Amino acid sequence: MGRPKKATPIIEKAPPKVAGAFDVLPEQHLPYGFFFDKLNNLAHTFSYSKIDTPLIEDARLFRFWKSAYPKENLIEIMSDDGKSYLAVKPSNLFSLARVYLEHHYFEKERTCKWFYASPTAHFGANKELHQINEWGFQIFGETSAIADVQLMNLLLKFFSDLGLPQVGLEINNIGCLECLPPYAEVLKNFFKDKKYDLCENCLEDLEHNPLNILACDNLSCTTAATDAPVLVDYLCEACRKHFIGVLEGLDELNIGYNLNQKVIGKPWSRRTVFEIRHKTPDNQEMVLGYGGHADDLIQSLGGPQVSSLGFVGSQEQAILALEHTNNKFATKSKVEVFLVPLGELAAKKSLRLFTELWNHNIIASEFIGPGSIKTQLRLAESNKVSIALIIGQKEAREGTVILRDVPSGMQELFTVERIIEEVKKRLGK
Ligand SMILES: [Zn+2]
Ligand SMILES: [Zn+2]
Repeated sequence: MGRPKKATPIIEKAPPKVAGAFDVLPEQHLPYGFFFDKLNNLAHTFSYSKIDTPLIEDARLFRFWKSAYPKENLIEIMSDDGKSYLAVKPSNLFSLARVYLEHHYFEKERTCKWFYASPTAHFGANKELHQINEWGFQIFGETSAIADVQLMNLLLKFFSDLGLPQVGLEINNIGCLECLPPYAEVLKNFFKDKKYDLCENCLEDLEHNPLNILACDNLSCTTAATDAPVLVDYLCEACRKHFIGVLEGLDELNIGYNLNQKVIGKPWSRRTVFEIRHKTPDNQEMVLGYGGHADDLIQSLGGPQVSSLGFVGSQEQAILALEHTNNKFATKSKVEVFLVPLGELAAKKSLRLFTELWNHNIIASEFIGPGSIKTQLRLAESNKVSIALIIGQKEAREGTVILRDVPSGMQELFTVERIIEEVKKRLGK
């Protein structure tokens, strides 16, 4: 190895990660692997197809819903032409809607059922960065109340499979563009008399988003909202029928739920809104994700009037909840043979052997980097691999391999030509 080239530019110190962003280190990935295995299996069983969308979109995609993502909350970049803006997606939903329209799925499929796992980022109220690695299910097309029930059923089954059978389902109905505005007016008048009980944020919302006051966790606001008129009493006929259909479906499946007026969803939410919650060991409630309809979304982006139903969760919240279970995420080691080359010539020979094993469908792994034979064998043992193939300098020269039965420590010498057959025999292949 030569001396490092002097021309390499050097900065004093690599800067740390940005606050609000995060790494998932290799040693932290075990629960993620467990999570995604379950997610893929379940999505497959319920015929959801995987979809990926880009990190960057044309900023105009998010601007219609600026009440949710005002300009200052989007991470925007000026595009090359200096005239338009690009934005990091603050949520996957809009990108999914764009794909649905851009690729004309509304003409090709009656109902699209998709699932995804993709990072998003936006700025919070104080310009702090929020990275959220979302995962979720999304349906565009024709849906009925039964679809809502099926989605909730699938999610509860998923969390139960993960080892979280006790999650809670909080549900509400937020109405549609026909019944929501008159209700908002009723609510506004109700809270006008209680102005002095409201927190600063709620006072700001009083005029345009009085529904937000219902969701406020401030004690004084919660008390003020105790006798507030209930939206369910103001639903139009179609929304009321839909809601009854959903509740009857949940009863049919014996799914417990809690009707909760504080669950109001997002500005694009319509009709059914729900949250799935987990109780931490210290009795704190943690929201694992939220779902419901966004039935005006596709139309708001210039598309046809089709229903949109979905659920979105944060991967990190799910992993955090998994840590509260006693699951050790011990994945069965798939490695069958451990290669232990000692010295440079042996390392070169082991490359050939590695490929040979691979060609015979035997999964081999090797310890990369310098290490004593003891370290390497200990690694084989901790990975529960029963066969180690050791190639020392002498063996490398002579074309032989030492086969070691890791649990017993018994060793035997074989020629390279015979070793594959012997390994297959011992693995019962
Ligand atoms: Zn309605
Ligand atoms: Zn408040």
